[in-house]
Amino acid sequence: MKVTVAKSAGFCFGVKRAVGMAYREAEKAAENGRSVYTLGPVIHNEYVVDDLAGKGVRILDESLKIADTGEIPEDSAVVIVRSHGITEKMHRELKSRGWTIADATCPFVQKIHKIVSEKSRAGYPVIIIGSPEHPEVQGIRGWVHGPCAVVGCREDAEQLNLPREKEVCVVSQTTFNFNKFQELVEIIESLGYHVMVTNTICNATQERQGEAMELARQSDLMIVIGGRSSSNTQKLYEICRSECKDTYYIQTPDDLAAVCFHSDSCVGITAGASTPNTIIQEVSLRCQKN
Ligand code: SF4
Repeated sequence: MKVTVAKSAGFCFGVKRAVGMAYREAEKAAENGRSVYTLGPVIHNEYVVDDLAGKGVRILDESLKIADTGEIPEDSAVVIVRSHGITEKMHRELKSRGWTIADATCPFVQKIHKIVSEKSRAGYPVIIIGSPEHPEVQGIRGWVHGPCAVVGCREDAEQLNLPREKEVCVVSQTTFNFNKFQELVEIIESLGYHVMVTNTICNATQERQGEAMELARQSDLMIVIGGRSSSNTQKLYEICRSECKDTYYIQTPDDLAAVCFHSDSCVGITAGASTPNTIIQEVSLRCQKN
């Protein structure tokens, strides 16, 4: 059996940075006794979240209470903002509580916050192409100061009701599928909007999606590793499934038990941005043993 792991599989730059920050804050906390929290799980990966919990890093929910107890963190708390970023309002709220903010918002996401903030302040309506419920999109939306809409599909575009007198600033969720993004921009234009498009899809995502598509094309069986709630892993799965119908979506090496291998198969492996290298290596090793 030939097993190929995509070079771009696993942690992207922004996630690596956020996870590294969480471990560093945990180390500091072990020395200075301060409590450390992440605002929501730092990544969509239970293995990493549990490991951090073992080092004392706890999760805050949206109401800024400790997720497992409902208590409010003490004044000396350190709060890590994950790579998805947060709204401007939430930023102010964290500051107002006197907590120390360790901001792991990915610089690529910060760039989108800056674009939509500047353009909306200059009077341009904003369209964010992405999934309305995704935390990154909700964070971006929170930096818009004026009319804004989120478009995730053709129906959303057809229901747009933004002012048409001015150009519309269009940005994208960093993990959105590039072809779908282009398609939606064309639909928006066909509805009579004059668009000012900034393609803010992250290179890491484009590279991972492109390589996954190529690998899936050449493989008899494709394994996509990542958390169930990770939108970038779901998109990877869709892409691979369209090229290779024997595509499996797994979360841990143990899920390989449900995969039907053939000894002469070419197996391709890719993984979402929240999947640690240790898991990818373990999956690869176990595939080779089949
Ligand atoms: S996918 Fe790109 S934008 Fe998103 S966190 Fe990773 S590096 Fe940053």
